[in-house]
Amino acid sequence: MGRSFVGEARRRVGPKRERIRPIVERLKAEHADARIALRFRTDIELLVSVMLSAQTTDVNVNRVTERLFEKYRRPEDYLGVPQEELERDIYATGFFRQKAKAIRGTMAMLLEEYDGQVPRRLEELVRLPGVARKTANVVAAELGDPQGIVVDTHVRRLSQRLGLTRHDDPVKIERDLQRLVPRADWGVFPHLLIWHGRRVCLARAPNCTDCVLLDLCPSARF
Ligand code: SF4
Repeated sequence: MGRSFVGEARRRVGPKRERIRPIVERLKAEHADARIALRFRTDIELLVSVMLSAQTTDVNVNRVTERLFEKYRRPEDYLGVPQEELERDIYATGFFRQKAKAIRGTMAMLLEEYDGQVPRRLEELVRLPGVARKTANVVAAELGDPQGIVVDTHVRRLSQRLGLTRHDDPVKIERDLQRLVPRADWGVFPHLLIWHGRRVCLARAPNCTDCVLLDLCPSARF
């Protein structure tokens, strides 16, 4: 895409501050079912699911946790078996050694410092072993108190295509989105982009002609 073409496309759609609300509203209408795809019943199950979801698909995690959560219910359960046993039980999610170690370290810290409960604050969540900012953001949002905006591969691609950020680094993209997206939508916004990215704005072949954001998107092809 040439420079003048980019400039022309940006002028056509207008400033991002004016586009963000219609973008959010249209995506909410289009993907009313957009929500986290991981299955969990408790805060502990949420945390473990998100930790397991690194480098694999949500479908794969759900397949593993269906049995896992029958066997492990409380933080003590993850510490009550040898590490190798937990590794076997989560093997199919990949990186099972690192993940087992992180989960056990996290459960130990939950018991020692948080009375066995999952903390709510981002700065507390990121202290848990193996819990990075993205994991913490997902957990905080699902617990009803989003304190940041989750940036995964879909969120990054769509934010760039929609001209909401010029950055490539997830931390900088998140900062741009936090300035732009209304606070009340921080939790749902990533789900909207993820579902739109899976259904319409695919990585290799975006289906612009069927996209509800066609007139709001500087990358639209028609
Ligand atoms: S118009 Fe095309 S590039 Fe823009 S969000 Fe829609 S599908 Fe993606």
